[in-house]
Amino acid sequence: DLYVGSVRGLVCLSPSGMREITKPEGGSLGYVYSLFEDNAGTLWIGMLGNGLWCLANGVIKRVVDSTLPKHANVTSICQSQQGDILVAHNSRISKIGSDGSVSSFFESQDTVSAWAITCFDEATLLAGTGCGLKHIDLNSGEVIRTIASAPLGGGWEFTTSRSLTVTEDRKVLCGTSDGLGCVNLAELDQLTSTPEVHLAQVHWHDTQPVEHSNGFYVMPGKWRVDFDLWTDWAIDEMNCIMQFRLLGFTSDWSDPQPLSRISFNSLPAGSYALEVRLQSSICGTGNSTVVSRFQVGTAWQSAGIAISDWFGSKAESKTGFAFAKRWAISRRKHELEQLIGERTTELTMINEKLRSAATEFEQLAYTDPLTAIGNRRAFDGALAAALERGRVSGSATSLLLIDFDYFKSFNDQYGHAAGDDCLKIGAATIKALLRKPNDFIARIGGEEFAVVLPDTCRASADRVAERILSAIRELETPHEKSAVAAHMTVSVGSATADGKANIRPAQLFSDADDHLYRAKAAGRNHASSDYKLGSSSLPECEAGKQIGQDRVIQR
Ligand code: GH3
Ligand code: MG
Ligand code: MG
Repeated sequence: DLYVGSVRGLVCLSPSGMREITKPEGGSLGYVYSLFEDNAGTLWIGMLGNGLWCLANGVIKRVVDSTLPKHANVTSICQSQQGDILVAHNSRISKIGSDGSVSSFFESQDTVSAWAITCFDEATLLAGTGCGLKHIDLNSGEVIRTIASAPLGGGWEFTTSRSLTVTEDRKVLCGTSDGLGCVNLAELDQLTSTPEVHLAQVHWHDTQPVEHSNGFYVMPGKWRVDFDLWTDWAIDEMNCIMQFRLLGFTSDWSDPQPLSRISFNSLPAGSYALEVRLQSSICGTGNSTVVSRFQVGTAWQSAGIAISDWFGSKAESKTGFAFAKRWAISRRKHELEQLIGERTTELTMINEKLRSAATEFEQLAYTDPLTAIGNRRAFDGALAAALERGRVSGSATSLLLIDFDYFKSFNDQYGHAAGDDCLKIGAATIKALLRKPNDFIARIGGEEFAVVLPDTCRASADRVAERILSAIRELETPHEKSAVAAHMTVSVGSATADGKANIRPAQLFSDADDHLYRAKAAGRNHASSDYKLGSSSLPECEAGKQIGQDRVIQR
């Protein structure tokens, strides 16, 4: 008969057919996880979540005990040479004697004590666990050794494959999550060499040590060093523990701990040797090994002497001295480079601050504090630049001068603060009317503003002037004392320079000022640009015509 256990139960295959093994009251046994036929022909059936059952002489019954409950997870079953049935279930391994008594002899920290168990000899059991192969004493339940990793670091997990077999020549074949492993326990027993430890690598942080055949030389200061260790003695790693001491600092050994990184930081000046030793429960304590030597210097100036003393005692003093000199020079070079780097960064930062202060200052020097638009100085620059550009490109430049009407009376009537507000709002209103990016507005006097319109012919400038007049009117700022309206108004005078005519700023300004005077004289609240100076035959530009083609000084 062939018994097949599956997630859905247990079936028996025989030449006469297939038959399901059911519970005495009927129904599937459940998830069959382990099956074992003992010497007497009894079939032991281990279930996940449904305990242990046995089938003998065609009768199936559940094995129940306080240590082996109804809903136990039975992961593996085997038989000892004495005839006891050994059962791995949950975190225990139990023994069922020939009289049916159940006793637990091994308790694990893990929820699954073992995924596979098999007897190695009459006194010991092998258990494949989630963290390696355990060799367990059958009587005491003590773990003799754990083989948790191979020399090259492979894991020994039995969770994915549950195979564990002792071959005829007493080797143990282990199907692990890392592949098939072979363990020769007899050889391990003869192993008498003690574990050795070696330095795998060393990392210095925040310092530049000088490496020499006799070790490292480091400057005092804030630094850290990490020593990574390894051993090729990798079996039984759970019992392989490390102790270290830093000679020169303390002669006491550290507490035993797993083999891991050792770090120190900012040690005082002195000579140090890091000494490590390994211990194992099988082979005892290994020889201690000095894995690294290093010296922490005093101030760098004395480094030459210190190093020469230090190396001199170990190598020829001449070599030591030559090295010390080289070291001191390279150290000095490094420090100077660092200093230059720091100073350069500092200077760059100062320059940056100066630059931004200068920009800020320049901005202040060209800004009118009341209205936050350009001031007279900014206006002078903008007008000169616009005329120069116009001269190069041959395009017309227009200038508008705007003066608030009867502003003195406004101040007298409503107060100086109201006058200020009126100027601020007026400036913002005019600024908002300007459409081209190079159009420029400035406050050039008390209640006088100027607008520079590059690339703008006279007709376009007139339209801008009209827009300004309307916009200020539409603000409807009450002005009782105005002789021209019930609200605040402005007068605008403008002039346009032909790009090719090489008009100077003062000339254009004076033209515009004349027009402003005319506008005032003509009753205020309007714009004037029809004052002609020079040739009257210059053509007017048409609306929508290319501004660059405007060739007139508009008068
Ligand atoms: P007009 O219509 O002829 O331009 O008459 P006006 O009163 O506006 O001209 P006038 O030049 O006689 O007076 C200008 C006034 O503008 C004088 C001054 O009190 C006022 N003013 C100049 N700067 C400021 C300022 O910053 N704030 C305020 N509130 N008033 C100012
Ligand atoms: Mg005025
Ligand atoms: Mg004025």
